[in-house]
Amino acid sequence: MHILVQKFGGTSLSTSEAREHVISHIRRELDNGYQLVIVVSAMGRKGDPYATDTLLDLIEQTGGSLSSREQDLLLCCGEIISASVLSGLLQHQGISSTVLTGAQAGFRTDSQFGNARILDVVPSRVLEELEKKDVVIVTGFQGQNLNGEFTTLGRGGSDTSATALGAALRAEMVDIYTDVNGILTADPRIVEDARALPHVSYAEICNMAYQGAKVIHPRAVEIAMQSGIPIRVRSTFSNSEGTLVANPEGFKDVQTGVVDRYVTGIAYVGNVTQITVQSSEPSKGNLQLKVFQAMAENAISVDFINVTPTGVVYTVFDSDARKASSILESMGFLPQILSGCAKVSVIGGGINGVPGIMAKIVEALAEQGIQILQSADSNTTIWVLVNKEDMVQALRALHTKFELAH
Ligand code: ADP
Ligand code: MG
Repeated sequence: MHILVQKFGGTSLSTSEAREHVISHIRRELDNGYQLVIVVSAMGRKGDPYATDTLLDLIEQTGGSLSSREQDLLLCCGEIISASVLSGLLQHQGISSTVLTGAQAGFRTDSQFGNARILDVVPSRVLEELEKKDVVIVTGFQGQNLNGEFTTLGRGGSDTSATALGAALRAEMVDIYTDVNGILTADPRIVEDARALPHVSYAEICNMAYQGAKVIHPRAVEIAMQSGIPIRVRSTFSNSEGTLVANPEGFKDVQTGVVDRYVTGIAYVGNVTQITVQSSEPSKGNLQLKVFQAMAENAISVDFINVTPTGVVYTVFDSDARKASSILESMGFLPQILSGCAKVSVIGGGINGVPGIMAKIVEALAEQGIQILQSADSNTTIWVLVNKEDMVQALRALHTKFELAH
């Protein structure tokens, strides 16, 4: 049995023209002989009638009084609407289908409403329906907890639904259809000459996704990596093959190797605040420990940590900055707060030990007069913190410096 999972994101389902493209991809793969399982997101993006962000606005209008269980119930409607519409359109074109909710498709999650984690997927109903119908359509982004309550998986959750279902069904491939031609060297909304990568390893895209590249959710990649299922990220609006995500051995049929690439791409996280806490003399770890314990106790996630003999520098999301600052002040510290920063990352499996990469980064930014507020590196990523107003220029300059466009 050759099962293919196709996941269609919000913009791929937002207009009737887009949905025609979706149907053409479904028809083509049916003609290719696949048994098809379709995972859908809610239709459209912020502002569109049935998009997840629109449903979130509705929840906001309840004044924060809706319980998290009921919030998830409401959010689940977005995918149910798009799945049902798609089913009707397919029927109209002579393709039979069954729609299954996340719960019906066998997604079992923990009870963290709004950001539930998949425990397992038991897809017996999907397999049963596949025998009866041309395709099975599954609502992404949702599951049920062990008490049978509907849960949602958080931002980008439909990607995770798709790869988790692909793994449970031992699918041959998971195709993530979106509005760009695959995984690009940078976000094309900011870097116009960003180039589609024909193939990337799970590790490369996982790093890019964790550093902010929103094209696919990192958890979705991890699940595919664990089960060894290849992913293709491709455009709903063209017939190009997009980007193949697999283990490097999976590329042996591909002409160019992935291993000799030292920089894969550039990503960013905007909206971070830099916090500096200093004492006048070396503190022997006392200050540092107190600061990080306080952040942890208050569930503030910290990033970009540099510890020095006299203090610490780190970042938090802008949304946590005020809280972090008042906690530190209540402890008697005088934190310096720099809001409106952005973390820019240069990502590549081959960065490790290659001399001159940091020099290139500093040069690219200096040429544009961009100040580096902080930097750090690992064997796959180099991060720099810049002012938010410099972010776009920094991304473009780095993209050009590392010749990622050609
Ligand atoms: P979908 O609704 O299909 O899930 P998303 O908005 O979640 O679509 O993801 C696609 C978007 O990701 C693109 O429109 C693009 O702006 C953005 N993006 C950010 N970084 C990258 C990257 N490196 N490669 C491709 N797209 C990226
Ligand atoms: Mg997405």
